[in-house]
Amino acid sequence: MSNNAAIKIEVVVPYQCLLGEGPVWDAKTNVICWIDILKGDIHEYSPDRKKHSTITVNQMVGAIAICKSGGFMGALKNGFGFIDRKTGTVKMIGNPEWHLPANRFNDGKCDPEGRFWAGTMACSNEHEAGSLYIINKQKIIKKKADAITISNGLAWSPDHLVLYHIDTPTSEVTSFQYDRVTGNISHRKIAFKIPKEDGLPDGMTIDNNGNLWIAHWGGWQVSRWDPVTGEKLFSFSLPVSKVTSCTFGGKELTDMYITSAMQELSEDELKEQPLAGSLFVIRNCGFKGIPANEFDA
Ligand code: CA
Repeated sequence: MSNNAAIKIEVVVPYQCLLGEGPVWDAKTNVICWIDILKGDIHEYSPDRKKHSTITVNQMVGAIAICKSGGFMGALKNGFGFIDRKTGTVKMIGNPEWHLPANRFNDGKCDPEGRFWAGTMACSNEHEAGSLYIINKQKIIKKKADAITISNGLAWSPDHLVLYHIDTPTSEVTSFQYDRVTGNISHRKIAFKIPKEDGLPDGMTIDNNGNLWIAHWGGWQVSRWDPVTGEKLFSFSLPVSKVTSCTFGGKELTDMYITSAMQELSEDELKEQPLAGSLFVIRNCGFKGIPANEFDA
């Protein structure tokens, strides 16, 4: 069920985020991108060139997506915006929660049609204060779901018929019927529930067999789940408790990149897990992802 001694978990680069999150593989440049939500930093690392670079957007950043033109689309503290990948300069597009200053954007991903989906949460974690939004290439923003506490873990099934979503404190993975043409979602239901002893479900990705990979906040692992049966199929153990998100990368999409956090760890916990906040990679992990969708701009 879980990794043995043959599995090698490497630290990608000796840098520790406060709240590392949102890993996305850029297939055009063969670079892994990830963020530090609380610091407002966006990191990039090129395994080929062994080069790490960082930009700052000067506000919290909940998620990024790669644009077809090469830049970043971001879900930020103050709404959606395009981010200059060299300088970090943000060109804001719009904020559907301009009237809710206590909220911020959290996790987001692009759908198969190149629309960007991202959810919000209260900075205080207030119950059901967040919503899920979509922005399309015409820059029209719409609300798709509400009454969400901490919006996380978006993934589309390989046949593009299902959207999976996580509202972390519920421990539930939710599924929606997804209409690729219109972007409509319907038939919200609980696909399966993560047992409390495994921590809370956070970020998520999907492999080429349609199984979900979930990062476990407080659960020391990423794990693979069959969304139809709700069965836990496999897990990779990690040397840090707050595992935040995961994605497949590398030219063949067979490397698994995993982000983590050191936020709110005590001094004793930090001694026990000195790599907390690192970006990890499991090269040739034995599973294969599907390419990250890009924003149509
Ligand atoms: Ca998250």
